[in-house]
Amino acid sequence: MAGRLIVVSNRIPTEGATAGGLAVALHDSLSGTGGIWIGAHPEVGPEESLFEIGDGPYQRLAFQLSRSEYENYYLGFSNCVLWPLFHRRSDLVVLKSAYLQEYLSLNRRLANMVAEVARPDDLIWVHDYHLLPLAHYLREQGVAAKIGLFLHIPFPALADLSILPDPSIFAEWLASYDLLGLQTQADTARCLEMYRADERAEFFQDGSIKFRDRLVRVKSFPIGIAVDAFQSLADYSTGNPFGAEQPQEYIIGVDRLDYTKGLPNRFRAFGEYLHDYAEGRRPSLIQIAPPTREVVEAYRQITEELEELSGRINGRYAELDWTPIRYIHRPIARDRLAGIYRGARACLVTSLADGMNLVAKEYVAVQIPDDPGVLILSRFAGAAEDMTDALLVNPYDIDEVAKAIDTALNMPAEERIARHRSCMAAVQATDVGRWTKHFLAALIASQGRLAISSGKHDRHSRIGEERPEPRQVKFQHVEKSI
Ligand code: ADP
Repeated sequence: MAGRLIVVSNRIPTEGATAGGLAVALHDSLSGTGGIWIGAHPEVGPEESLFEIGDGPYQRLAFQLSRSEYENYYLGFSNCVLWPLFHRRSDLVVLKSAYLQEYLSLNRRLANMVAEVARPDDLIWVHDYHLLPLAHYLREQGVAAKIGLFLHIPFPALADLSILPDPSIFAEWLASYDLLGLQTQADTARCLEMYRADERAEFFQDGSIKFRDRLVRVKSFPIGIAVDAFQSLADYSTGNPFGAEQPQEYIIGVDRLDYTKGLPNRFRAFGEYLHDYAEGRRPSLIQIAPPTREVVEAYRQITEELEELSGRINGRYAELDWTPIRYIHRPIARDRLAGIYRGARACLVTSLADGMNLVAKEYVAVQIPDDPGVLILSRFAGAAEDMTDALLVNPYDIDEVAKAIDTALNMPAEERIARHRSCMAAVQATDVGRWTKHFLAALIASQGRLAISSGKHDRHSRIGEERPEPRQVKFQHVEKSI
C-alpha cells in the first residue's frame, strides 16, 4: 500500500469493550500497515482538534461531540432521519432543520481535522451513514487522497429519499468518494438508480459514474464475520452457557433492540407456531436483545410492545417447568453467546430491513457440520442474497414464519447438513479479513479525480496522473429515468 490507511468512523472502539468482527478486522489492517483510526470518544479532550488516545501499533485520534452535536448530528439526523429512511421506515423520520444543519457542521468540522493529518498518498476509509458528506468537505479542504465509503446499512430506494427537503444532496455528497462500498447487489442497484435519475451523472462502460469532475465507482462488498475467531470462541466455551437451567430444545434470536429487526413479528410467529404446530413439543425462544438508543421515542415503544407480547404468550402457554419465550434484555459475553448459538436447533432472523445481519453468519459459523441447526432468515436481510439455502421467509407473513419454525424443528439431518454446507460457503467467502482486503484493493485501484477538473481547491492533486484510458472509457448518455 502506498501511504497510510486512515479509518474514520463515528465512534472509535474503546479499550476493553467487546470488539466485534469489524473492529478486529480494521484493527488487524491498521496494525499490519500502520495508520490512524479517527472517531468520536467519550474521553474529554480539546474541543477543536483531534487528540491521541492510548498507544499501540497505530495511532488512535479522537474527537469529542458537544452536547448539541450529540443530540442533533447523532441522535437527530443520523438516527431519526437516515436510520429509519434507509431502513424503509419513512414513517419514523423526524424532520428538523437543526438536525441537518448540525449533521453538516459536524462533518465539516471533522473534515477540517482529518485534512490536517491526511497526506496525498493516504487511503481514507470512511464508515457508515453518520459521515456521508465527509468526503465532500475533505475535497473542499483540498484533500486529494483516495477516499472510500462503506455503508453498513441498506441503500434507500429513490422514492424513499424524496421525503427529504433536498434529496439530490446524496448524489453530490457520495460523488466525492472514489469508491462507494455497499452490502449487496440490490443496494448497488438502488444507488445506481439514484444516479440514473440525476442528470448531472454520466455512466462509464466499466460501471463507474462521472459526476462533475470526479469518477466514483459503486460496488457491493458483502461483509462477514471473523470466522475462525468466532468458531474458536464456541470451541473453547465450556460447560452450559445458560448456567443451571438449560432449555431442552430452543430457537435463538440475537438482535439489538431495534424496530428494523422485526421482533414483534417474531414473537407473534412463535406464538402462532405454539398454537398451530407445536403438538406437545415444548421448544423455547431465547431472545437476547440488549437495549439501544433508548432515548429515541421509537425505541421506547418497541420495548413496551415486546414486553407486552412476551408476557401474553408466556401467560398463555408457560408451564411450571417451561417458559416459552425467554427474553433477555442485556448484553451477553461473546464466548457464552457462541455456546448458546451452537446449542440452538434454529436461529430466527426476521429483519424487516437489514444491511447484512451478522447474527445469521455467527449462527451458521458455529454449528457442528454433521448435526447443524437451521437458519431461518428474512428475505430482507442482506445476508439472504448469498445464503440462499437458509429457510428464507417473509417476516411480514406471520404464518409463513410459524410454518418455517415447524419445518426447521422437523428437518431431516440430511437436509440440515446440505443447507448448512451451502450457507457456510457464503460465510467463509465473506470472512471479514478477506472483506477488508477486497475493499482496500478496490480503493487503491479506483480512478479518483478526472484530469478535466479546474483544480481550483486542489492542494494535493497530481493532475493527469489519474486520467482513465481514453480507449477503454467512453461516455454513455443515460436517459433520465424519472
Ligand atoms: P446490527 O449491526 O444492526 O446490530 P448485526 O446482526 O449485523 O446487526 O450485528 C449485531 C452484532 O451484535 C452481532 O455480532 C451480535 O453477536 C452482537 N450482539 C447482538 N446482541 C448481543 C448481545 N445481547 N450480547 C452480545 N452481542 C450481541
